[in-house]
Parts: sequence; C-alpha cells; structure tokens
Amino acid sequence: MLPEQPDDWTEPGAYPVAPGVYRIPLPLPNDGLRAVNVYAVEDPAGLVLVDSGWAMDETEKAMTAGLRLLGYDLADVAEVAVTHAHGDHYTQAIALRATFGSRVRIGRGERASIERLLGGDLGAYDDQYRQLRAYGATELADRLERWAATAFNRGDMPWDLPDGWLDDGEQIRLRDRALDVIATPGHTQGHVVLRDSPAGLLFSGDHILPHITPSIGFEAVVARTPLRNYLASLRLVKDLPDTLLLPAHGRPTPSVHRRVDELLAHHEVRLAAVYREVQRGAPTAHAVAATLRWTRRERTLAELDLFNQMLAVIETGAHLDVLVLQGELTCTEVDEVRHYST
Ligand SMILES: [Zn+2]
Repeated sequence: MLPEQPDDWTEPGAYPVAPGVYRIPLPLPNDGLRAVNVYAVEDPAGLVLVDSGWAMDETEKAMTAGLRLLGYDLADVAEVAVTHAHGDHYTQAIALRATFGSRVRIGRGERASIERLLGGDLGAYDDQYRQLRAYGATELADRLERWAATAFNRGDMPWDLPDGWLDDGEQIRLRDRALDVIATPGHTQGHVVLRDSPAGLLFSGDHILPHITPSIGFEAVVARTPLRNYLASLRLVKDLPDTLLLPAHGRPTPSVHRRVDELLAHHEVRLAAVYREVQRGAPTAHAVAATLRWTRRERTLAELDLFNQMLAVIETGAHLDVLVLQGELTCTEVDEVRHYST
C-alpha cells in the first residue's frame, strides 16, 4: 500500500511512502525533469538518504525544510547512497559531506565517469561529441561543443570521489533494515537500484521512471552497448518479485513490473520503427532520428533544443547498434561515420 501523495509530485514537503521512509522532492536548475526525489530512510543509527539533489542553495533549503518536518536536520544524515553520477543525484551529497561529514557511496561502475570529470583535461561531453560524429550528426556536435563552452562552469559544481563504492549483490546494512544493491547499467554504466525486499520497496533512481523513458548512456565515459545493457537491467528487475516503485523523478507508483513492461514495449516499438527507416534508406542514426517523432508531444528532431537533439540522436544510434548486435542490421564505417543497412 502506498500512502497518498500530493497531486503535484514536485510540491515541497516530506511525504511518507512506507513506514520510516519519506520522499522529499527537491528543485532543479531550469531542468525539464522539474524536480528530483530524495528518499530519507530512518534508522536508529542515523538517516540514510537515497540520492541527494543538485548542489545549490535552493536544494539545501528544501532539504532542510523537508527534514525539519520529520524532526531532523542536515547534520542527522549519516549516509547518502547515490544511484548514479548525474549532477541532480550526486552533487548535493558531495556538498553535504563537506559540511557534515556524511558518508557518500555510489555504484562502482560510475568510477570512470567521475574520474574523467575530475581530470579536467577532457570535457564532460567529449564522448558524446565523438558519438554524434559517428552517428552522422557532425554539425550538431560542433554546435553543442560551442554551446557547452559557454553554458557550463564546472568549477561551480561540487565534484569528487565518493567514500566508498557500491557493488552488485552487497547490502547497505542499517540497524533495522538492509538495502540490497542491484547493478542496473544502462541509464549510466554504474547505475544501481536499492531494494528493501521485506518492505516491498524499490528505490529505482533513473532506471525506471513513471512518466518518461530514461535517457540511455548519457555519461562522461560511455558504455559500448548502453541500450543492450539497459534492456537487460529492465529484465533483471522484472525477474524479482514486484514492489512499490520509488523513482527519482515523478510519482511513486504501486508496481515496478507494470512500468518495466511499458518501458520494454516502448523500446520494442522504437526498435521496429528504427529498423523500418533504415529499410526505407535512412543511412545514419542522425538521418533516422530526423524521421522519428520525439517526446510525448511528437516533436520533430529540429524542434528539440540542442541538448535533447543530442540525446535523441544518441538514443537512435543505441537502437541501431542493438539491431546490429541482434544480427538484424549491418553496419559499415565510412569516413568514421556508421552507415546501417538491412
Ligand atoms: Zn540521471
């Protein structure tokens, strides 16, 4: 049973989702996702947060206000378990640690991406530009590179290694409960979900979102086969008994399985559509993406902003590459651009 949630899931507050577990929605900087849910898990040894929000003043204020409703403050956060190394999940944890000494852990598979961003000699999206060019979207890559050079100041964002890595199969042991760590690569290589089996809860991060289909493989160091990994990670979660879905963006819902089925069906439809466009003669991921419709509003590729055009082309490429892996398409590289054919 899921306690009632407000009509607008982004409304500030602290909402019980299960005994001792609360959802605290936090604001995001001008982001289409609107808000991010942090889950506070009560334990006699201290609070554990699942995910942490985007490090900024408004986040700290909203988190402080949410915790206060529960009788806590930021100093009571003993540990933050982060599902993946995206800014809206990870950076506030690093900020909390600096002030309050909270312990921060994240999936081991995020290490390469976290270190890449610490290194500083490579840009955050260099892998994406390389992918875009391989997918035939050279002009888009050039425009993005120019845009990113002015849009970001990475020095503003707290970024560092965690205190520890979460491994698949281990448990985060609290005094009164244990959270199973399950590696779910796809959205990012090192994404993990956390499961409280006796309580029937799945903290799904961005692996399973109720209203949107998560982006695939948007990370500093990209996986070789992100969509294949993602689909396998969906099936992995589906093989476990059903639980409540506690997502990082959107309303909690009663069934993980129902949403996994919808996401698997979405990708089946997408794979078929992508195949059809190659059959009709679209040679590259960019060309295929330009024939498809995007978002629930059925927009064309050109109607999306630059950032979402990038995600769309990369996702189309991921679908094409899965079809190649399945032996349904062939791929040849011409001048470092991937050309697909039936
Ligand atoms: Zn994410």
